[in-house]
Amino acid sequence: MRTIGLLGGMSWESSAHYYRLINEGVRARRGGTHSAPLVMVSVDFAEIAALQHAGDWAALGERMAAAARTLSDAGAEAIVLCTNTMHKLAAKIERAQPRPLLHIADAAGTALVAAGHRRVGLLGTAFTMEQPFYRERLAERYGLEVIVPGPPDRAEVHRIIYDELVRGVVHEESRARYRAVITALIAEGAEAIVLGCTEIMLLVDAGDSAVPLFDTTALHAAAAVAFAVSG
Ligand code: GLU
Repeated sequence: MRTIGLLGGMSWESSAHYYRLINEGVRARRGGTHSAPLVMVSVDFAEIAALQHAGDWAALGERMAAAARTLSDAGAEAIVLCTNTMHKLAAKIERAQPRPLLHIADAAGTALVAAGHRRVGLLGTAFTMEQPFYRERLAERYGLEVIVPGPPDRAEVHRIIYDELVRGVVHEESRARYRAVITALIAEGAEAIVLGCTEIMLLVDAGDSAVPLFDTTALHAAAAVAFAVSG
């Protein structure tokens, strides 16, 4: 099998799920006592979140590039960056080392197209919902029309990620708030909802939405499994 390089800790709450999902996926494909060959770099998310909110993407780019080099030097044959938001720095990670980056938006886009969806709602951090790096990739490479919540809902979706989900905190009222945001996106024509933040699956599941949810954590982990077992 090929060795996966997990660049995680953003947050570790979701990275722990990646680790389990990738190993479960390899066992499902290979059977027996098989598990995933992988190496991991896990960062201190407090430092990352502070730099994000300060808008210091240059410093974040240096950190992600250095971490990806560590992974490739340690034998990783592909890089799996366990967060949607930090894919803003995908190009820097790709340039910094020789291994391919299994892009999380490609995992989502491929699944959405396969399911026949065209107009999709996107939930994630404000960075992911508001900046072009993620939406444009879905639009340009997969022909998807991406809609996002209005400003007050975006602020609340973002706040719940950073104040609660990355800390492992799940509140019933936050679930109700996400449910309402999803319902509003469906009313605007969303045929599917992209959980474009790797912690959102801690809060909502299929029962919280009248249209299919596309969980980027699970889809990205599945892409990692496919890469590992195809070697
Ligand atoms: N895990 C989240 C994401 O998928 C947010 C944490 C981060 O900013 O990296 O975007």
